[in-house]
Amino acid sequence: MTPSPPAATARRVSRAPLTPTPSWSVPETERLIALWNGGGTAAQVAATLGKSVRAVESKVRKLRVAGHRLSGRRQAVPRITRVVTRRCLHCGHPFPSEHIGNRICRDCLDDGPFRGLVG
Ligand SMILES: [Zn+2]
Repeated sequence: MTPSPPAATARRVSRAPLTPTPSWSVPETERLIALWNGGGTAAQVAATLGKSVRAVESKVRKLRVAGHRLSGRRQAVPRITRVVTRRCLHCGHPFPSEHIGNRICRDCLDDGPFRGLVG
């Protein structure tokens, strides 16, 4: 069950006032570039400028297209590595595995036939 039928949603959307997209002034744009290149996440930059995250991301994209140098996209949420115990495919001993492709234990990587092949 959906909370609201599609017809009601469509009606509500069509009746919504057309709000003009807030434009970016030159000082705002300069501030955006400075904040973005200064290392803030999209969420932080958005909060500082009083804009939405989507507005910031959209503006950054447009600025890049226009040839501005903006640093790479940083992840707003740091990547979570979930360490689980897996059995080493070589020696069969359980070991803390950091990702699904991590199937050889540290001991085998360091001393076994895999030495020098991985990290
Ligand atoms: Zn092993």
